[in-house]
Amino acid sequence: MLVIGAGVHGLTCGVVLAEAGRQVLIRTAERPRETTSAVAGAMWGPARLKPPERVLYWATLSHAEFTSLARVENSGVHLASGRMAARFDLGDVVPPETKLIPDLQRCDEQELPDGFVWGYRGTVPLIDMPRYLDHLLDRFLAAGGEIRLGPVQTLADAAAECDTIVNCTGVGAHELVGDPSVHAVFGQHVVVRNPGLEEYFIELSDGGEFTSWMPHGDRVVLGGISLADDWRRTPRREISEGILRRAARLEPRLADAEVLEETVGLRPGRESVRVDVEHYRGARLIHDYGHGACGVGLSWGCAFEVAELVEGKTE
Ligand SMILES: Cc1cc2nc3c(=O)[nH]c(=O)nc-3n(C[C@H](O)[C@H](O)[C@H](O)COP(=O)(O)OP(=O)(O)OC[C@H]3O[C@@H](n4cnc5c(N)ncnc54)[C@H](O)[C@@H]3O)c2cc1C
Repeated sequence: MLVIGAGVHGLTCGVVLAEAGRQVLIRTAERPRETTSAVAGAMWGPARLKPPERVLYWATLSHAEFTSLARVENSGVHLASGRMAARFDLGDVVPPETKLIPDLQRCDEQELPDGFVWGYRGTVPLIDMPRYLDHLLDRFLAAGGEIRLGPVQTLADAAAECDTIVNCTGVGAHELVGDPSVHAVFGQHVVVRNPGLEEYFIELSDGGEFTSWMPHGDRVVLGGISLADDWRRTPRREISEGILRRAARLEPRLADAEVLEETVGLRPGRESVRVDVEHYRGARLIHDYGHGACGVGLSWGCAFEVAELVEGKTE
C-alpha cells in the first residue's frame, strides 16, 4: 500500500501499518527533516480543533504513546514541566485533554511573568522533531517499509499504482486533493543554544504573535508567529527579531543565547481535521490531513484510526 507524505502523519501511519505486517511504500516530495513537521516546537497539548470528540480521542491515544516514547532512548521525546499562560483571563474551565496532565495546577500571581494574568503549570510530552522524525523513519525501515523521494503528481496516478492509499500531505492536500479549505498558516521559529532551561513556556494568544520556548537538551526552540494564508517558506529577519525580543523579555537567560537556526513551516489549516475514506477510481483513499497547529499531538491517534480504516473495520 502507498502512503503519500513523510511528515509526522505519513511516518506515523507508515510505522503503525508496517509494524502490523503491511507492505508499505511512502512517497514524499520532501525528506522528513524538510517537512513542516520538522519545524514544530513541539509539545503535546490541548487541541482546540474540530471535530472536538474525535480530536479528544486522538489526543488521548497520542498522549499515551508519547508518554511511553519518553522512556525510549533516542526517541526525541521527553516529559517536561512548564507553564501555559495568557495575558487575559481564560477562567477556570480548562480543555478536557488537560485531565491527562497528572500534575496540572493553576499558577499563582508570582509564578506568572509581568503582564500575564492566567496560567497553568503541568508536565507534558515535548518532542524534539528532527530527532523524533529520525526515530520514526528508523522504525518504519526496520519494519520493512520503503520510502521514495519525489512528488505524486495526481491522485489518479496514485490510484493507478495502488488500490489502498493513505494521504498525509499536510498543506499539500490543497493541491493534490483539490481541497480549497486547506490553507497555510505560516509559522517561524528561532532555534538557540540552550542556556540552561529545562521548563517550557507557551503563551496562549488570539493574535498572530506569541511567546514560547521549548527546550530539547542543548537546543531551545523559540516561537512564535501565526500568519493565515501566507504560503512563503523563507524565514524573515524581522519575525526572528520579534521572537528573540519577546522571549528575552520574559526569560533573561535567552537574551544572549547563540542563534543556531531560523526555521519556517506551514501549519495545515482546515475548518476541521479530515480522517476518512473516499472511494476513488477503484482505490480506497484514506485521508489524514488538516491538523493545523496540533498535528504532532494528534499523530498517533489519527494513525491508529487510519489503520482501522485500512482494515475496513470502520468506514
Ligand atoms: C512553527 C510551528 C510550530 C508547531 N508546533 C506544534 C506543536 O507544538 N505541537 C503540535 O502538535 N503541532 C505543532 N505544529 C503543527 C504541526 O507541525 C503540523 O500539524 C504537522 O506537522 C502536520 O504534519 P503532516 O505530516 O500532516 O504534514 P507535513 O509535515 O507538512 O508533511 C506533509 C508531507 O507530504 C508531502 N507531500 C505533500 N504533497 C505531496 C505530493 N503531491 N506528493 C508527494 N508528497 C507530498 C510533503 O513533502 C511532506 O512529506 C507546529 C507547526 C509549526 C509550523
